Amino acid sequence: MKKNACYRASTTQRWAGLMKTNTTCPYCGTGCGVTVDQAVDGTLTVSGDASHPANRGRLCAKGSALAETLNEDNRLLSPEIDGQQVSWYQAIDHVSRALEETIEAYGRESVAFHISGQLLTEDYYVINKLVKGWFGTANIASNSDLSMSSSIVGHQRAFGTDTVPGCYEDLEAANLVVMVGSNLAWCHPVLHQRILAEKQRRPEMFLVVIDPRRTATADCADLHLAIQPDGDCLLFNGLLAYLASHGKLDEHYLEHHVSGLKDALRAVGDMPMPRLAERLGINLQQLEIFYGRVAFTPKTVTLYSQGVNQSESGSDKVNAIINCHLATGRIGKPGMGPFSISGQSNAMGEREVGSLATMLAAHMELDKPQHRDIVQHFWDSPRIAGKAGLSAVELFDAIADGRIKAVWILGGNPVVSLPQADRIKAALQSCPLVIVSEVASRTDTLDYATVRLPALSWGEKDGTTSNSERCISRQRAVKAPLGDARADWWAVSQVACRMGFRCGFNFSSAAEIFREHARLSASDNHGSRHFDIGACGSFSDEEYQSLQPFYWPWREGRTSVKPVRFFAKGHYRTPDNKARMLPIAAARPGNRDLSDHYPLVLNTGRIRDQWHALSRTGYSPRLSAHLSEPFITMHPYDALIHGIADGDIVQIRSPHAAILMRAMLSDEQTPGQLFAPIHWSDEFASQARVDSLIGSRTDPHSAQPAFKNQAVSLQRFAAHSHGYAMLRHKPDRQLFADVDYWAMTPVIGGWQIEFASLQEARELDTSMAMRLTKSMQPCCIEPLSCLDHANGMRRMAVFEQDRLQFLLFTSETPVPVSRSWSAAQFEALWNQRSTRWRLLAGRPSIDQPDTGRSTATV
Ligand code: SF4
Repeated sequence: MKKNACYRASTTQRWAGLMKTNTTCPYCGTGCGVTVDQAVDGTLTVSGDASHPANRGRLCAKGSALAETLNEDNRLLSPEIDGQQVSWYQAIDHVSRALEETIEAYGRESVAFHISGQLLTEDYYVINKLVKGWFGTANIASNSDLSMSSSIVGHQRAFGTDTVPGCYEDLEAANLVVMVGSNLAWCHPVLHQRILAEKQRRPEMFLVVIDPRRTATADCADLHLAIQPDGDCLLFNGLLAYLASHGKLDEHYLEHHVSGLKDALRAVGDMPMPRLAERLGINLQQLEIFYGRVAFTPKTVTLYSQGVNQSESGSDKVNAIINCHLATGRIGKPGMGPFSISGQSNAMGEREVGSLATMLAAHMELDKPQHRDIVQHFWDSPRIAGKAGLSAVELFDAIADGRIKAVWILGGNPVVSLPQADRIKAALQSCPLVIVSEVASRTDTLDYATVRLPALSWGEKDGTTSNSERCISRQRAVKAPLGDARADWWAVSQVACRMGFRCGFNFSSAAEIFREHARLSASDNHGSRHFDIGACGSFSDEEYQSLQPFYWPWREGRTSVKPVRFFAKGHYRTPDNKARMLPIAAARPGNRDLSDHYPLVLNTGRIRDQWHALSRTGYSPRLSAHLSEPFITMHPYDALIHGIADGDIVQIRSPHAAILMRAMLSDEQTPGQLFAPIHWSDEFASQARVDSLIGSRTDPHSAQPAFKNQAVSLQRFAAHSHGYAMLRHKPDRQLFADVDYWAMTPVIGGWQIEFASLQEARELDTSMAMRLTKSMQPCCIEPLSCLDHANGMRRMAVFEQDRLQFLLFTSETPVPVSRSWSAAQFEALWNQRSTRWRLLAGRPSIDQPDTGRSTATV
């Protein structure tokens, strides 16, 4: 057996009979190591893996709650065709024949894949191989289209390769950390904790946050620049000019390793600092502090994320940042460099495998004939895609206009996550073949699937994942799969084999796929491509099972698997081995679409304790307690002029859609700007899919949509009635189909639903009481109800034997009952009928303590 630095026989085994397993968190791009302890009774306990280099034992709230999200009541357990349960054999047969017929009738370009950043590298590899090598198209719209493609383009334009130059240790080695368009404290909490721990050790370390919103990250920074939306190019162009005029350029580095300085400097111009500050919407002193700090701090890291990428000028923002690092030679050295932080857990794996419409496998490029030859020869495939495929936005346009006839969606929820999300519904409805591989049994996108395939969830999956610093870790199974759930790589391979492609897809394990991926990365490489994990190409199955986190490159013969930094001594992957500084044209910051109809700017993003469309974290009472309803934050000034009070329900409208959310007033917002989270889907709220508001404006180079900086209007929703219900089980959303506003949240003991309507309170009460009662077993329920004449509030409790089944309160005004007290009553036994009346108070009696909030609020 081969021994290497990443092999440790004692720590990793398969799930059966296992006590302790080291695996990886499936959420954000930090890529934390997770240790799962399994008790004799099968109970799983999650903790941070102290040996993992990304987190060294830390976990955030989401990671800590992983065991709570392995719920069994929202799982797709069997394949389905047109709503009918079928065997995997039938499903594979149906999908393979339907794909064959589609290709035969409409050509190769009529088939497409849409994949999420949550798949494992082995899944990506097989999908990419099938689509590009056998179907001969590059129609793979990936998670990166929505989150990282501007960074990829920025890297490729500057470095000639999509290589992240540094590693997490740079964040701790830096004296200045500039965080641009990143609410790191909420979106990558463990990385933020690492930075704060270092700042506590070295208080002189200086933290700057550049974000239009005062976020939790900004609260921990020494300087917050609340620049105007999309002001980043102007800010970093100004910085480049400042560095040049203050003699801070690294002439030696520029001469030997960089081209394009003159053009870049010409493009930045010489705008006077006061005018620059005024255009950016910040004060001059702040700007001078920032520029001065950068100029005099060689050890500077500029970390950036979706606030940079998700913009019409995302690629240019990335290159404006990189320009400053190239000009000062601050790249690839400890504590120095631009640092793109990826959003989803395996966004980097997707890039490494080339599972994007613009890339080939193993960091090779579609538009390079020699790369196409290498890949086709290695795969021994009948063909190879010859041109870039459709980006995510283009792909759904092509479905809508009939060019795409078959789409296979794996792990994604485009009905929630794409711009103009309502159009995605219409597009999928018109598509003859929609295959959805999903873990959950209910998602907004599953509603449109003609074929549903049950996928493995975290805890059942087995494979590898790559984090933002190029560290590859194993994600291991800690429990047996539920139902007929299977790995995505298995489902895709089976379809490929049934289509007659067995020679390329006869995979029997994730290990086998990983070995092939590793060998391809080394094929005809000879150091020409950074991504090379050839040393893994001859792993035994046991070595793969026991693989410890390692950093690429890991070439054959290299013994160290510690982080490598790139570009300190140049060696860029461009024809002359020099990096490219790009001339960046900086448009005036702000929003050109603002008008009397749409006078406010909407920014979107994640919240601390939820993940994407809530299909996992949305079932955890602990995580849902943080912010339990879809909300929009606004400055009190905007609230005042729109006649909105804290906690009101408001309608947010763009030219594309209208949604309803709970208003949250906060001076963290700049007047004129709003913030709303991306998480709420139709499964959890009536009208809160925030991406339905977003237009299809994209970056011209990366095709990444501008999810930030959307012009919208705001209006108070004048509900005539309000309600609050507590149920033992999650209700079907159809129960609330004609209720204007509703949002459901898990709490300990059941589910709570806040709702509001344009109906009169009596009407709402009658219909809700009937529906909720009907949803129970009618034979054994005992209702109890009353009307409070003092305030018109209606109260109802329904029991089944000694157990409370639901509580319902409706009123003309928001319902002032204690949510936490109501939830706690589901645990109690109600065998004394005389005491049941207490429940209708919706709060504890005077001799009991109240433990929670008493009104509807986020
Ligand atoms: Fe998971 Fe990210 Fe939290 Fe780490 S920081 S535990 S990877 S969600």
